[in-house]
Amino acid sequence: MTQYIYAFDEGQKSMKDLLGGKGANLAEMKRIGLPVPDGFTITTEACIEYLQHGSKLSAELLSELDNQLSAFSKRTYKSFSADSDLLLVSVRSGAKISMPGMMDTILNLGLNDENVLTLARKTDDARFAYDCYRRLLQMFGEVVYDIPMASFDTYFEQYKAQHGYQNDADIPAEGLQEICDYYKDVYLDEANKPFPQEPTQQLTEAIEAVFKSWDNHRARVYRNLNDIPHDIGTAVNIQEMVFGNSGARSGTGVAFTRNPVTGEAKLFGEYLLNAQGEDVVAGIRTPLDINVLKEQMPEVHQQFVEVSQKLETHYKDMQDIEFTIENEQLYILQTRNGKRTANAAIHIAVDLVNEGVISKETAVQNVDVKSIDQLLHPNFDEVALAEATVISKSGLPASPGASSGKIVFSAEEAKIQAEIGEKVILMRPETSPEDIEGMVASEAIVTTHGGMTSHAAVVARGMGKCCVTGCAELEINIKDKVVSYPGGKLFEGDVVSVDGAKGDLYLGKVATMKAERSEAFNQFMQWSEEVARLNVRMNAETPQDIEVGYQFGATGIGLVRTEHMFFGPERLVEMRRFILADSQVSRISALNKIRDYQCEDFEHILKLSGDRPTIIRLLDPPLHEFLPHSQEEKVNVANQLDVTVPVLEQYIGQLEEVNPMLGHRGCRLAITYPELYVMQVEAIIGSAIKLKQQGVDTKPEIMIPLVSTVAEFEILKQQIIECIDRLQNEADVSIPYLIGTMIETPRACLIADQLAKTCDFFSFGTNDLTQLTYGFSRDDAGKFINQYTEQGILEIDPFQTIDIDGVGALIKLAVQQAKEVNPQLKIGVCGELGGDSKSIAYFNQLSIDYVSCSPFRVPGALLSTAQSEVEGGRINV
Ligand code: PEP
Ligand code: MG
Repeated sequence: MTQYIYAFDEGQKSMKDLLGGKGANLAEMKRIGLPVPDGFTITTEACIEYLQHGSKLSAELLSELDNQLSAFSKRTYKSFSADSDLLLVSVRSGAKISMPGMMDTILNLGLNDENVLTLARKTDDARFAYDCYRRLLQMFGEVVYDIPMASFDTYFEQYKAQHGYQNDADIPAEGLQEICDYYKDVYLDEANKPFPQEPTQQLTEAIEAVFKSWDNHRARVYRNLNDIPHDIGTAVNIQEMVFGNSGARSGTGVAFTRNPVTGEAKLFGEYLLNAQGEDVVAGIRTPLDINVLKEQMPEVHQQFVEVSQKLETHYKDMQDIEFTIENEQLYILQTRNGKRTANAAIHIAVDLVNEGVISKETAVQNVDVKSIDQLLHPNFDEVALAEATVISKSGLPASPGASSGKIVFSAEEAKIQAEIGEKVILMRPETSPEDIEGMVASEAIVTTHGGMTSHAAVVARGMGKCCVTGCAELEINIKDKVVSYPGGKLFEGDVVSVDGAKGDLYLGKVATMKAERSEAFNQFMQWSEEVARLNVRMNAETPQDIEVGYQFGATGIGLVRTEHMFFGPERLVEMRRFILADSQVSRISALNKIRDYQCEDFEHILKLSGDRPTIIRLLDPPLHEFLPHSQEEKVNVANQLDVTVPVLEQYIGQLEEVNPMLGHRGCRLAITYPELYVMQVEAIIGSAIKLKQQGVDTKPEIMIPLVSTVAEFEILKQQIIECIDRLQNEADVSIPYLIGTMIETPRACLIADQLAKTCDFFSFGTNDLTQLTYGFSRDDAGKFINQYTEQGILEIDPFQTIDIDGVGALIKLAVQQAKEVNPQLKIGVCGELGGDSKSIAYFNQLSIDYVSCSPFRVPGALLSTAQSEVEGGRINV
């Protein structure tokens, strides 16, 4: 038979799934001898069954409850009936994962018109008894009968004002009794039924209400925001009441074992004397600093300090503790790992290792990967943000950061404004490679189309620049230079603030807080690196980004997207000359110019990398991306290239494709224009030779994109080797190089064993692989993915987190097959999933050697791989 209720004596901290966090920890605290009021926990299973099956407490549960109450009465020598020692209880929710304040609590349950008299008599304090009763009436009314809080509060405040009472504690017993009578009338008026006088009826109705509160709106929203499943239910904790409101020698408070904002190793907390439950957080009275307790009740303070140290050592993490003092007796009502800022999380983890409380493996588990971003990018000040006017919250958090600036609608305008010192936000329906310089000049980029792997998202992340994509609520009209949003219109020059970590936009300038990277951060990252199995490389091509990535602990470069180097104005002209050339001679002449530029680029990149592996991908995008779009641009380009606009348009027409993503791109470009890749290889190896001659060793790894047949790879590999042999012979220098491929088509996954025989390395391009596996355009999926996830068609956006069943299965198959035929083959992941923590946990289970992501995601990726190593059990904690 299923056991639905566990006495605190029967549980322990490992039983969170069944008893919820609060219940498991109450049991654990009792087990280690801390002063915890007695009680029992109704399991999460009981809640799930209640919510699934007709919302009625089952006969089995009710009969177990009956037995538990009898046992409880025996243990405590108390009962709900008035003539013995009076039992009053609290009823509190408690899910496996803490959801602070999201569900409901009822205190003082068991009081009724008769019991309140007994309580008054026994305590010789009628004021206290009626204070408890009015609190019960209010909480029960709100939680169980949905009576609005204001129906009670308004009267309470009016009563105080009418009688000239400053504080709640000034109201005498008779006043509180009057208030209780009024509250009971509120039940009749608003719920059409009286307050239940029978304590067991109060209890069963309260249990039902807590079960139901699992599904209330705010709890659902909280779970969505925090990735908490909706089907795990809440436990209900029923616990003997202790009274912080029973006079001046009583009180209640909340304390953290360390400072949750800075991480400082010092007790941090507040309490109120003669108060109960929510009084501390409600803010009506100003609580006292926990240090004041040392003067008011030195022994209790000392006992609390000892308890808090014991709890922290026992749980091996900073604790958030709720306590109550009843007539100078200390009781602990809750402990849990305390919520903290990212900065505090790092400091606490590092201090606990240095104090010998935890190992560095535990330390890496104690820090949330998401919080790492907070330390790398500035954030908006929480107070300023709460007051700011929202423009939209519908965007995708494409690249974190917090930026404010004037709206501009074109890359050109962004550059012009930035040159005169203005901070600008570039707003476009979407961006294209041509916008790159405008993106560099902007503080943030906002687009209405595109998802997390759209051009804007990928490029912005690479630059560590704040970016929001897929902001579907906005309509950006670049022609008339106006943005329409649900609350109005914005024009060029209007100031907005962009929260790239959340995908939100605000009106005006919102104050920010600087990112901080402390000594502790560096130490913490070093431990993550030591624990991690997967290496983390970076996707980067500019010297600034590469330097940042290496500072953050990247072990090499996993992807240089060479096309990003073709968009400087002077390079674009030559690229266009190449594309529009009508003979091989003129094509090669244009390429020679481009090669000179590329040599300069690769020399910088390879020099910065030194002997760390550096994967340079040969040209990938369709050529038409380099051509002009607007009429104005066409006129300019026609002038530059010395052709007429109609001739130019004719060329553009010839290059136009119905499905460019599936068209003439990747290695297909080099099959038709071999000189393109040869030029790039000359530049890569030429630079490596030059550096070698200067005494700098480098490790270039040449990567061919979008391969789907072995022949494609082998033809191009042959041309590349011939070129390298020629260069090495001419210079009489030998460079250690590798030639590998991206695996980004499903077919490449299926023939991975054949490719592995001829490739030196694989790198999974999960952006294209996801696009081609689902048949979802990576640039257009934003239009429907949200609905897919909302309707449960997809659990997650597969461009953000690996689809284990589909894309993941293809990768797993390819890795297994490839390593079987070529165990030396180096395998990495360089798509956006390479920086996502859940995806990294999956890759860590496969024989993959490294992940690669934009520089600002490197620390998070390192921490993710360290965490999955510890969780996967390969490392002993
Ligand atoms: C990919 O497809 O995952 C990849 C890294 O290449 P790109 O995003 O440049 O197409
Ligand atoms: Mg790709």
